[in-house]
Amino acid sequence: MKKLALILIIMTLVVSSAVLIVNHQTDQGLLKNSNRNYMNSTVSTKPSKDLTKGTTKEAPKVNIKEKKQVRPKKVKKDIVVTIDPGHQEKANLGQEPVAPKSKMTKFKATVGSRGAITKKSEYAITLDASKMLQKKLQKKGYKVFLTRYTNEVDLSNIERAKIANKRQSSLFIRIHADGAENPNVHGFSIIAPGKDNPYTKKVFRESKIAAQTIVKQVEKDFVLYQNGLIYRSDLAGFNWSKVPVILVELGYISNPQEDRNLSNSHYLDKLSTSISDGVSEYLDKTK
Ligand SMILES: [Zn+2]
Repeated sequence: MKKLALILIIMTLVVSSAVLIVNHQTDQGLLKNSNRNYMNSTVSTKPSKDLTKGTTKEAPKVNIKEKKQVRPKKVKKDIVVTIDPGHQEKANLGQEPVAPKSKMTKFKATVGSRGAITKKSEYAITLDASKMLQKKLQKKGYKVFLTRYTNEVDLSNIERAKIANKRQSSLFIRIHADGAENPNVHGFSIIAPGKDNPYTKKVFRESKIAAQTIVKQVEKDFVLYQNGLIYRSDLAGFNWSKVPVILVELGYISNPQEDRNLSNSHYLDKLSTSISDGVSEYLDKTK
């Protein structure tokens, strides 16, 4: 009888220590793939329950809760924004169709307008502005790429759109500065794909919301050109885009004051802040 009692005690000890080991391992596994701060507050209360209820039921519960907690930050980081600084230093006067299968063609890439007073080229202004906007959006937690990082590139408008598509961008932002014969014409505007354009049918709605949201934000501190919104169907950079796309016209560099403003880093900083606020507002409500 004494022997039997001893065996029973030993068996009980072996079984309970095995349960303890299993629980310990499960907790360690959870710690690895989770946010430490969060783990400290939540999992510390769980092990006692696990000991009584068994490990398999409790562990997934904790995991689901953690994912919910860290999700917003993670998703935001996965959102890709591609910015295209319009034009380039050397024009490529080869032709490309404005839309797939279209017989209408346009130059592959031009140098753009030139500042009335500063004589600064549009391609240089758009690159400065794009880099500034990139920084602002990166600070907000987005993955932001430019289609070009220098002025010495050869990229057609179709190729630029394809870059944005390849990166599965949540938004493709093309940056330009306007020019007009009348030097009095001025103001900020955004061009979005036209409503009845078959090539941008899938991205029309989202592009429009993006344009409207950003214009609303910029309007608070800056002057708009007319109502700030223009729709066009004849742009290759739109018609090859499979992701929501807009073209930002920062202002008219044919207007002396706006030309000076767009070469002023304080002005550009303020303007890119407004644009980035509009972009994040749009992405927050749609993503
Ligand atoms: Zn342009």
